[in-house]
Amino acid sequence: MVPVKIAVTGGIGSGKSVVCRMLAEKGLPVVSADELSRRAVEPGTAAYGQIVEYFGESILLPDGNIDRPALRNVIRSDGKAKKALERFVHPEVFRQMEKRLEDAVQKEAPAVVMEVPLLFESGMEKWFDCVVLVFTPEESRIRRVMERDGVSREEAGSMMKIQMPEEIKRKQAHRVIDNDGPMEETRRSVDRLHNRIMEKAGANIRKKNEKG
Ligand code: ADP
Repeated sequence: MVPVKIAVTGGIGSGKSVVCRMLAEKGLPVVSADELSRRAVEPGTAAYGQIVEYFGESILLPDGNIDRPALRNVIRSDGKAKKALERFVHPEVFRQMEKRLEDAVQKEAPAVVMEVPLLFESGMEKWFDCVVLVFTPEESRIRRVMERDGVSREEAGSMMKIQMPEEIKRKQAHRVIDNDGPMEETRRSVDRLHNRIMEKAGANIRKKNEKG
């Protein structure tokens, strides 16, 4: 059985982690964005070698791992370096996604959920069967990020500038979860999404059985 591939995307502070947690509680395997990006630059990956070669050993921690916050700092003010980093990391993230899909196949999971913040920006949306956009207007996102990360309004706002406008993403997503209201409302939307995913998974199984 091939699990249904679900992407959860959305701006910083939109509520992706909240939605992913709710889907995990329903028993679906969920791969967080942090896990994908952390694994993509682990020692031993192709991206690790390319990053050290390009940025130098000054971006390494004493234990040999890449200092990801330091790297983020470097690329913030250097567009060329940012492009280079993306060129190294995206294929590796993709390999990690393939691996996690393989895990889900082994476990006979009906679906696999991946949190991918820069999904459209990296062109990865085509790989997924269903793209879910968590949508929260910018003003609420700024307030939530200020509270969550203890940062100033300016810092929260500047993190959001690098992302594609939400209106464009809205048009491209298969499903939108509006997360500007109370959590209970979001939970109800996630329940509906989960039902839809299970229907899709059931249809996949039936199709496979018909083929014999
Ligand atoms: P993302 O993963 O997209 O960056 P999070 O899921 O971490 O966003 O949500 C950002 C912050 O906003 C978190 O502190 C979270 O608890 C809070 N939050 C998310 N959804 C809601 C909501 N519907 N109402 C109130 N707070 C929320």
